[in-house]
Amino acid sequence: MRVAVLSDIHANIRALDAILAKAGKVDAVWHLGDVVGYGPDPDAVVDRLRELKARGVRGNHDLAATGDDAIRDFNTDARAAMEWTRRTITPKTLAWLSALPPRLAIDDWSLVHASPRDPTWEYILTEEAAAANLAVLPTARGLFGHTHLPLAYVLAANASADEIDTLAPEAGGWLNLDGRRALVNPGSVGQPRDGDPRASALVLDVGRHSVAWIRAEYDIAGTQAAMQAVGLPVRGISRLALGI
Ligand code: ZN
Repeated sequence: MRVAVLSDIHANIRALDAILAKAGKVDAVWHLGDVVGYGPDPDAVVDRLRELKARGVRGNHDLAATGDDAIRDFNTDARAAMEWTRRTITPKTLAWLSALPPRLAIDDWSLVHASPRDPTWEYILTEEAAAANLAVLPTARGLFGHTHLPLAYVLAANASADEIDTLAPEAGGWLNLDGRRALVNPGSVGQPRDGDPRASALVLDVGRHSVAWIRAEYDIAGTQAAMQAVGLPVRGISRLALGI
């Protein structure tokens, strides 16, 4: 089974459609939350995921969009974008976001937005944090987002419990995780932050325990114009072109 794994779409429909085209034919779409926030197209993105029967989890921005006081922890720009999101989304979008669970297990993969031990908020940015989270992972392998950085933390073969390899994506190459516990981040579809402005995602071969990262160019200027038209924060608009 071939699966497209999408995270941190952040209401960017142009980036979402470009990465779906790049992923090609897949049997399923899984998402890791932050479907909305920052971007100009929350309803269109949720409609697309609904059409695709995507399965996934809620991120901190999705939680905030449903009215949760999670918004208090947002910085000024994220909060301004979230206040706009709350005003603009349809009841149908709100209902879809409200129904997202904090975690999900499909086959031997666990899906969370942030981390297995704190599915909505923790940023996994170090091998220490990855090791602590691998230790509590209920399945052999996990998928997470939130940091917007494409990479994998893989338990070294025959290693003691906390010997972790950090693997960066290689263009077009498949990473075989056979027999190894791993936490894998697809990067962000709608707001990449690794210095590469192209949309980022993962294609997963469930039977082979293999993953491949993909990148897609999209109409960044179109998304920026749509953000400007509805008055979203300037910094959020400019960072899209830089991938930061
Ligand atoms: Zn995010």
